[in-house]
Amino acid sequence: PIVTRFAPSPTGYMHIGNLRTALYAYLLAKSKGGTFILRIEDTDRERLVDQAVQVIYDTLNLAGLHHDEGPDIGGSRGPYVQSERKDIYLEHARKLVENGHAYYCFCDKERLSSLQGENGAGGYDRHCRSLSQAEVEAKLAAGLPYVIRQKNPLTGTTSYTDTVFGEISIDNAELQDAVLIKADGYPTYNLANVVDDHLMDITHVVRGSEYVTSTPLYVQLYSMFGWETPIFVHLPLIMGRNEDGSVSKLSKRHGSVSFQDLVEDGYLPEAIINYIALLGWSPGNTNEEFFNLEDLSRVFSVDTINKSPAVFDYDKLLWFNSAYIRKLPVDAFRTLAAPYLEKAITKPEINKDKLLTLIQSRLEKFSQIPEMVAFFEAMPELDVELFVNKKNKVTAELAKELLPTIIDSLESADVWENDALFERLKNLSEAAGIKAGALMWVARVAVSGLMNTPGGATDILEIIGKAEALSRLKASLA
Ligand code: GLU
Repeated sequence: PIVTRFAPSPTGYMHIGNLRTALYAYLLAKSKGGTFILRIEDTDRERLVDQAVQVIYDTLNLAGLHHDEGPDIGGSRGPYVQSERKDIYLEHARKLVENGHAYYCFCDKERLSSLQGENGAGGYDRHCRSLSQAEVEAKLAAGLPYVIRQKNPLTGTTSYTDTVFGEISIDNAELQDAVLIKADGYPTYNLANVVDDHLMDITHVVRGSEYVTSTPLYVQLYSMFGWETPIFVHLPLIMGRNEDGSVSKLSKRHGSVSFQDLVEDGYLPEAIINYIALLGWSPGNTNEEFFNLEDLSRVFSVDTINKSPAVFDYDKLLWFNSAYIRKLPVDAFRTLAAPYLEKAITKPEINKDKLLTLIQSRLEKFSQIPEMVAFFEAMPELDVELFVNKKNKVTAELAKELLPTIIDSLESADVWENDALFERLKNLSEAAGIKAGALMWVARVAVSGLMNTPGGATDILEIIGKAEALSRLKASLA
């Protein structure tokens, strides 16, 4: 049975790259009827951020990536928080020391930082690797602070086959004697990822490509413990496009990069998930682009993950988002739009229900609502030049001529509803011997102060109500 895990460090917000990792790990498990585990990697005590674990739960929950085992729901492979597994790591590190695969290192900060300079390589010089048993015992007895380091082979090569990147091979001479247990007694990622992935029966390790080159170290550890290595699935980088057209690692200067920020910016979780599923993966032999989580769980396969970096395209995300907004049931759309609309529209006479229906098909993201609806709440200053429209042969003078008739006709309207108003204005244009489009244009500009609006003239008339409509039209004559 397939077991995958998402292993975030609680360092704050959830970067889109991390969410994609979670998504692929989830999909890999779900596509094969497997188990998806959440593990919290909090051993870097200096980087911990308050509430960050809650952010992880909230994000996964909102994204619909429900885990089968984890700190909040338990399971048979816990504990699922690394700080609660300290003893397990220590015990395993000691086992390696006993077997000659690891050693105590007492080098202090000064000594280590003096090494950083040499050749710019900054590697550890394996100074304590040759301490005798007696020396080590004496130093331990004297209570000297220590770390435990991995004792890597000095010759030969270490290789593994990555599902995405293929064969990765490194000369053992280049392997650092990496720290396994830090001076504070916590494990490093090096040790913890191997011990946990093994003890939690992880079959496929799905994570970012920044781990590709350190994985040989972990492969060595698996073999030192006598364990089988899991299958490694490293994911391509996510890049952002810079203003000059070049690309660099996706960061804040490209736009919102955390799931929370995107949601706050008015993107739907479903749209984000759909879009990021395609960031580095494609379904193969289909042009279909719309996939919900259920579809994805059916069609996802690690075989079609692309190893070249994916470029995050905000326009494409926006395109997905508007499609998902259009597909929302009206009630769901209302609920999501309400907070934005409440702030933007305070006048009670405005027909919010109609307004919502009108904007649903035009909205790309929810944060566009305030700007899109501002003219309903307050009429912008009217510039008579806006009446000029070549296509409909409208001039400012023609507008001035038509407006009094429009006002007269609307004053006598008692059914204030889009279709009836449309009928009325259409008849009026026929009576006046001009195109309906021309008259509608004049009416629309006069009540909106804009050339482009969501909805036509009579949509707007209906929404702002008769009194406001007439007052705007009259004001436009001045
Ligand atoms: N805690 C690591 C990170 O957030 C996880 C890497 C992994 O998935 O093994 O980068």
